[in-house]
Amino acid sequence: MQTSILWFRTDLRLSDNLALQAALKDSDQIIPVYIFDEQWLGKDRWGFDRTGPYRIQFLLESLKDLKVHLQEVGSDLIIKRGNPVVLLKSIGEQYGCKNIYATKEYTSEEIAIENKLFADLNVHLFHSNLLIHPDDIKFEIQRMPEVFTAFRKKVERYSEVRSPFKSPESISSPALEKTDIPVLTDFGFEEYTPDKRAVLPFKGGSLEACKRLDHYFWDTEKLSVYKETRNGLIGADYSSKFSPWLAHGCISPRTIYEEIERYEEEVEKNESTYWLKFELLWREFFKYTAMRYGNKIFQANGIKDKNKKWGYRPRTMEKWIDGETGDDFVDANMIELKETGFMSNRGRQNVASYLVHQLNLDWRAGAAWFESMLIDYDVTSNYGNWIYAAGVGNDPRDRIFNTQKQAGMYDKSRAYRKLWLD
Ligand SMILES: Cc1cc2nc3c(=O)[nH]c(=O)nc-3n(C[C@H](O)[C@H](O)[C@H](O)COP(=O)(O)OP(=O)(O)OC[C@H]3O[C@@H](n4cnc5c(N)ncnc54)[C@H](O)[C@@H]3O)c2cc1C
Repeated sequence: MQTSILWFRTDLRLSDNLALQAALKDSDQIIPVYIFDEQWLGKDRWGFDRTGPYRIQFLLESLKDLKVHLQEVGSDLIIKRGNPVVLLKSIGEQYGCKNIYATKEYTSEEIAIENKLFADLNVHLFHSNLLIHPDDIKFEIQRMPEVFTAFRKKVERYSEVRSPFKSPESISSPALEKTDIPVLTDFGFEEYTPDKRAVLPFKGGSLEACKRLDHYFWDTEKLSVYKETRNGLIGADYSSKFSPWLAHGCISPRTIYEEIERYEEEVEKNESTYWLKFELLWREFFKYTAMRYGNKIFQANGIKDKNKKWGYRPRTMEKWIDGETGDDFVDANMIELKETGFMSNRGRQNVASYLVHQLNLDWRAGAAWFESMLIDYDVTSNYGNWIYAAGVGNDPRDRIFNTQKQAGMYDKSRAYRKLWLD
């Protein structure tokens, strides 16, 4: 009888979960586990919480949803807090098993844990959160195109998106230790009432992810106009808002991709339906960038050897964080982030450019603040976009945003600035 641990990381779902599929195929019994890793619950070197309240709340909701779905198919979820290496080894000893199945991650802290586990356990890792499986990429990762357009063209031309897996109908588990889902205050944060001005009252979990997809695609057919609305700033439907669910793995990119294709067959195929696939490829691009460049995406000079000098002035940084720079477009966006844990893509590009080029502050501090606050924080998308904005990433040009010109284009009526500043 083979018993295996299924260690959930950023793949909080049963459908299209490659690690789960493989564990089920190879094992008679599964022990599903989630661990709050202490290293992501502390402070970073800038003094910010590594995981702020908005993301913890979304994570707790996602775990609740996952636990319910596991119980529905005959299993359960063990939830622990501490050092994953120590805890996974001890769970292995408790249940007499040495096999661990998990989703692969691509950045240093996550890989360090994987490597420590390899020393004592049989670890099996799977690419559950990619759109294109690395085996289907027709170039060596070390030689991947540095610029997005070249990457996208190669992938679009030579790679297929594999069909997603369905959720299993049953999962057999031994008698599992009963553990509770913690609450926000266990992490030192106060319960909060969501801000009414937020784009969405984001709720974690795979069920909520499916509801959002149904709303955006099938109920409102907003997907048909995505390309025209995606630079919006206010409200639920100017863009898909899939990012928090993707970041926590409540839905897989392949599931979204398959639904876009179904929409193209059943409703219509146009530039907007293509554009959502295009944006999913940006996400993919940053994952492959992390695979190729490793720790460089976190370093001051990024993937370029430009030797830029970065400054850090705490009071100026605080003004940026609090929306008190005096640039009303930047300030409105920063207040939205602080009050809700979300900011539009247009906003993110502007505030990042402003921090780097106007305030001349270290981009890594900006990235760390985003890491702390964003509900949809995804290590490769965040750092990939930040090095891009700082001119030390995959962008061949130094892109500087004129924030007031941008405000004139995207917030002509000032409705967005009024919403957050008045
Ligand atoms: C400085 C900066 C930091 C960012 N940090 C993150 C982050 O931590 N997590 C995150 O998910 N996105 C990040 N983004 C990318 C982007 O802003 C968000 O993915 C997007 O705003 C989420 O809203 P949406 O789901 O409605 O996007 P949509 O416009 O509906 O796009 C659909 C999906 O495509 C992907 N996507 C779109 N644009 C990008 C992009 N530029 N880079 C990578 N993926 C993209 C996302 O998965 C998104 O959910 C960042 C962008 C910038 C400029």
